[in-house]
Amino acid sequence: MSGRLDSDIEKVLISEEEIAAIVSRLGERISVDYADKNPLIVSVLRGAFIFVADLMRAITVPCNVDFMAVSSYGDGVKSTGVVNIVKDLSTDVAGRYVIIAEDILDTGLTLARLVELIRGRDAASVEVCAFLVKDIEGYTAPLSPKYVGTHVPNEFIVGYGLDYAEGYRNLPYVGVLKPEVYAEK
Ligand code: 5GP
Ligand code: MG
Repeated sequence: MSGRLDSDIEKVLISEEEIAAIVSRLGERISVDYADKNPLIVSVLRGAFIFVADLMRAITVPCNVDFMAVSSYGDGVKSTGVVNIVKDLSTDVAGRYVIIAEDILDTGLTLARLVELIRGRDAASVEVCAFLVKDIEGYTAPLSPKYVGTHVPNEFIVGYGLDYAEGYRNLPYVGVLKPEVYAEK
């Protein structure tokens, strides 16, 4: 690995400019749909934190934020299908209009589990805002988010909050790593 994060990237999938346009469109839609609802944005740590920081500033109506940490991938690149709640919300969601903001919907197992959990706490509504949705041929995710930033191909991606072994989250764009980066591990 060289000193620069950039040099580990094979290709850029979504540029900074494209990200800004996506986030502002999502923020506008949420602002219209939740004008009088004071929604609670639930940010799924750690991957979604950068997206949520930008999304909140694109929302022009009152809203709150809380954080939840789950682990599903560990340090590798394959989904384990197991979702552990590492940190729970501090907010009582009963009667609240909840929007779960996620970095990426891959198998959707993580989100399906979270939606179920928050619904079970008597939230007034629970919707999902996924910055990215991975298109997996022949696979239908167990839920369809109300808000989707954009779709990405079925590749392992990093940047804009998304990590590989906790690295690359600080890339300001979304990209694909060079295969040799995994091989080094
Ligand atoms: P799912 O449960 O939908 O399969 O996966 C959910 C989580 O896995 C995401 O929130 C994200 O943290 C991680 N994940 C899924 N696909 C990718 C990917 O392509 N790159 C990275 N860095 N994380 C991913
Ligand atoms: Mg992750």
